[in-house]
Amino acid sequence: MNKKTLKEIDVSNKKVLVRVDFNVSLSNSQVVDDTRISQTVPTIEYLLKNHCTVLLLSHLGRPGGKRVKELSLKPVAGYLEKILNRRVNFVEEYVDKDEAASKIRDGGVNLLENVRFYPGEEANETEFSRKLAGLANVYVNDAFGVDHRVAASTVGITQFLPAVAGLLLEKEVKVIGQLMVKPERPFIAIIGGAKMETKIGAMEKLIEKTDEMLVGGAVGNTFMAAAGQSMKQSLIEPQMLALAKKLLQTGKVIIPVDGVWEEDKLLDIGPKTQAEFGARIAKAATIIWNGPMGMFEDPKFSGGTDFVYEAISKNRDSLSIVGGGETLTALQNKDCLKTIDHVSTGGGAMLMFIEKGTLPGIEVLMDK
Ligand code: ADP
Ligand code: MG
Repeated sequence: MNKKTLKEIDVSNKKVLVRVDFNVSLSNSQVVDDTRISQTVPTIEYLLKNHCTVLLLSHLGRPGGKRVKELSLKPVAGYLEKILNRRVNFVEEYVDKDEAASKIRDGGVNLLENVRFYPGEEANETEFSRKLAGLANVYVNDAFGVDHRVAASTVGITQFLPAVAGLLLEKEVKVIGQLMVKPERPFIAIIGGAKMETKIGAMEKLIEKTDEMLVGGAVGNTFMAAAGQSMKQSLIEPQMLALAKKLLQTGKVIIPVDGVWEEDKLLDIGPKTQAEFGARIAKAATIIWNGPMGMFEDPKFSGGTDFVYEAISKNRDSLSIVGGGETLTALQNKDCLKTIDHVSTGGGAMLMFIEKGTLPGIEVLMDK
C-alpha cells in the first residue's frame, strides 16, 4: 500500500478518531451480522496497547441528516463491550467541542453516535469536518466499506488531521489489490445479485484477469438473454444486454443452464447450474464472489446462494474473497470468518476498488 498505515506513525497516548464501518444489520436492536465489527478489533486493540483514547465513528443506515431512533448505534456499543471485554462509552452528541470533552472517556473506548445524524457528513461540509477533527489528534480510516463515498468522516476530515490507514483497511487493500495483480490460477469470479449496472465496471476489469466468470442472480438472467435465450424484459436489464454480449465474447463467462421459477419469474439458479458452478469452484485456486445467486430473502430461492457458499468453503486450498452488502446478509448465519479467507467489508466499495484500483477515502490518506 502506498499510503501510511497506523503502525507507521507514533500514536502513543494520543486521541485517535477511527472511522469504522459498523453499518451492520440490526434486528430488535440486536446485532445480527458481526463480521464488520469483529474485523476492526485488531485496530482497536493496537490503539489501546498504545494507551490511546479511542473514538470510534461510524454511520448506520440512511437517516438523511436527522436523528432517527431506530438507527442509533447504541446497540452496537453493547455488542462491542462483549467482544472487547471492556467498557465502551457511548457518546450521543459530539459536535459541540466543550460538551464532547465532558462526555468522552480518556484512555478508553468511545463509540460516537451515527455520524449521518448530522447533515454535514454526507455533504462533506468543511465546518463539520473541522469539528470532527477537533475531537482528536490523529485520524485512522478503517472503513473500506464506505471509502467510495466522499463524506466529512472519510474525506473532509483529512484536511485537518494526520490521516492513516487502519489495519483492516490495510488488509482489504492488500488482499483485493493482490488479486488484481498476481492471482493464483485458475482464478474465478462469481457475480450475482441485481443491478448489473452498478457492477459492470468491475466486471469488465475482472474479466481481463480471471479465467472464468460465473454469473447468477438477476445478473445471470441478463446474460442468459444476451446469449440468445428468450427472457421477459422485466427479468433483465435491457440496457446491459450489449455489454453482457461483449463479455460473453471473451468465452470466459459461464451462464446458468437452469433455474428455479415462480410463475414467470426466474428467482434462483437450478440444480444443474449448481453442479456446473460447483465443479469449477472446486478446481479454482482464487475465488472472488459478489452478489447472491437468487432472491435469497425468501428461503425458497436461497438454495443457489447456500450452495455456492458451501462449495467455496469446501475448497480449503483456495484463496477466497467474498464481499457485498446483501451477499453478507445472505451468509449471516454461516461461519464466514472461519471458512472464507477474506470477508470484505465493502460491497460498492469493493467493486469500485476493483474497477479503479483506489477509492476517494484512500486517496486522501498520507503518502508513505
Ligand atoms: P450485494 O449487495 O451483495 O452486492 P446486490 O445488491 O447486487 O448484492 O443484489 C442483492 C439482491 O439481488 C438481493 O436482494 C436479491 O434478492 C436480489 N436477487 C438476486 N437474484 C435475483 C433474481 N434472480 N431475481 C430477482 N432478484 C434477485
Ligand atoms: Mg446490495
